[in-house]
Amino acid sequence: MNYTVNNKGFYGDFGGAFIPEMLHHNINELKENYLGIITSDSFQKEYKSLLKDYVGRPTPLFFAKNLSKKYNCTIYLKREDLNHTGAHKINNTIGQILLAKKMGKTRIIAETGAGQHGVATATVCALMNLKCIVYMGEVDIERQAPNVARMKMLGAEVRPASSGSKTLKDATNEAIRDWIANPVDTYYLIGSVVGPHPYPDMVARFQAIISEEMQQQLLVKTGKKNPDKIIACVGGGSNAAGAFYHYLNTASVQLIAVEADGLGVHTSKSAATTQLGSEGIIHGSKTILMQNKEGQITEPYSISAGLDYPGIGPLHAHLFKSSRAQFIGVTDQEALKAAYLITQKEGIIPALESAHAIAALEKISFKPKECVVVNLSGRGDKDMKTYSTYLK
Ligand SMILES: *Cc1c(COP(=O)(O)O)cnc(C)c1O
Repeated sequence: MNYTVNNKGFYGDFGGAFIPEMLHHNINELKENYLGIITSDSFQKEYKSLLKDYVGRPTPLFFAKNLSKKYNCTIYLKREDLNHTGAHKINNTIGQILLAKKMGKTRIIAETGAGQHGVATATVCALMNLKCIVYMGEVDIERQAPNVARMKMLGAEVRPASSGSKTLKDATNEAIRDWIANPVDTYYLIGSVVGPHPYPDMVARFQAIISEEMQQQLLVKTGKKNPDKIIACVGGGSNAAGAFYHYLNTASVQLIAVEADGLGVHTSKSAATTQLGSEGIIHGSKTILMQNKEGQITEPYSISAGLDYPGIGPLHAHLFKSSRAQFIGVTDQEALKAAYLITQKEGIIPALESAHAIAALEKISFKPKECVVVNLSGRGDKDMKTYSTYLK
């Protein structure tokens, strides 16, 4: 089985670029340029230097002694929560902003739901002195006020999307409309391993720094570069793609992707795409998504804004269908419980998204001595309001 994208932009049955005719020019320009630029020595030198001195990489691989004792195995946490801006998203925005500059683009657009990708984009635009416009649903602007304030302080313009349900998919439509209207100077910066080819491949390559470091760090700490299991949460799937990337073809490493069950898969409040979804097209790529019989996208739900997405990227759809990765669902309540567990056992307050990955530890049986890496995608500052509401 092959887990890298083919020259048509597909992972098995999934991927491709299902886009309006009027976007062909923009997507072709990106497709023809991205690999040459991002694999060049000069790009890699600049990218790695910013990851080191601006983002703060490499992020530590921390041996979680107390969690290990509880689950009777060896658990390491990959500390993406320690990155600048508090999550893995900056790995990707740094990469794409450098690419945009090399392609001569001067205006950056993005769409955001929870606001985390908007903040990571506004951050790198400030750093590079580029104009930044972030589309965001009116409902999300209301719900995510602290991130809106951050984006504005960073100098971005936040444009409300007021059509439809006024959430992420409406913001995405607005961003696409903008890109069609501004094909020459504008770069569309996508925040996960979603969207038309080449975005899923490009974002996975930028997030692959996570598993590149993991291999080196495990070798130093355990004498082997391969763990037995890697666990990561999946919204669109970028932190999981990064944590899995260098292990995709190593069959002995079990890959475990964790989705948000929300209130439960049998309620209408869930974001468990692989359990509830079917094959279809979302955001320009063929993948698995939650939709009704007429092909209308179902509004997802999760307590965690970053996992509240109705699809998964095409790589993950392929990993699911081919059974290369195992998909596990975790409810809001289970994630909250896990957030308190890791906070009180290890002194680390995780993002609610990352707490879903921690909660999966309850649902897996481990052999003693098994080596497990949990990707801690982000930190919990942004979720303190939710956590304190649930404080017993
Ligand atoms: C955005 C986000 C996610 C979900 O996005 P992926 O593309 O699936 O990684 C997970 N964790 C954190 C902390 C996030 O901010």
